[in-house]
Amino acid sequence: MRIILFGAPGSGKGTQGDLIAKRYGIPRISTGDLLRLAVRKGTPLGRKAESFMNSGRLVTDEVVEGLVRERIAEPDCRPGYILDGFPRTIGQAEAMAGMAGSRPEIVIGIEVRPEVLVDRLCGRRVCASCSAVYNIHVQPLAAAGICDICGGELVRRKDDTPEVIRERIRVYHEQTESLKDYYRRKNVFHAVDGERPIAVIFQDVAGLLDAALGRTKASERRT
Ligand code: AMP
Repeated sequence: MRIILFGAPGSGKGTQGDLIAKRYGIPRISTGDLLRLAVRKGTPLGRKAESFMNSGRLVTDEVVEGLVRERIAEPDCRPGYILDGFPRTIGQAEAMAGMAGSRPEIVIGIEVRPEVLVDRLCGRRVCASCSAVYNIHVQPLAAAGICDICGGELVRRKDDTPEVIRERIRVYHEQTESLKDYYRRKNVFHAVDGERPIAVIFQDVAGLLDAALGRTKASERRT
């Protein structure tokens, strides 16, 4: 099963993706994380992507499609995988359909109002060592700048400044949101309210996934 987590920046795709990965034992693939790693390593691809990312614009389709194609070919993706932050354009969605054959697919859209997104992203801090994510509005201790898990330094992502956040949300509405209709037409889109507590959202997400997995198994038995 291919699970696509869909939603604006700050909607909680990474958080829900990690919970799904843990419960279903499949990897979460975040194109943002893959790109940030390439930037940190200073690879040619990372150097190409960096200015797009720092200004809140999308990296070119070819670059991200190449990263995803390579990643999903790895053995841990054989039973299934979770995509977080990909596809973000119709072109990417079409490329992915071609890449991975007829794997059953479910898209979960996490819905959060724009004003809540800005507030969340302004308060987000990320551990520089283990990448754990915190929010200083929800977890005031995180403001001290130390990761609870590994003691690493909590930092603000370069693109979590008010100006770049506004640009990322604008780009989402302009280039990504129309994918909802694309997936609705394929009958695979499900929306969840992303403004509730994490565990409550996850109950809905897991319910949708269990139902989809049940349908997939039933259709495999018929064939
Ligand atoms: P994220 O971590 O998902 O918020 O992504 C951070 C940044 O990486 C985005 O603002 C884009 O510049 C870039 N990026 C991540 N995924 C994609 C994608 N699928 N297509 C184009 N750019 C992407």
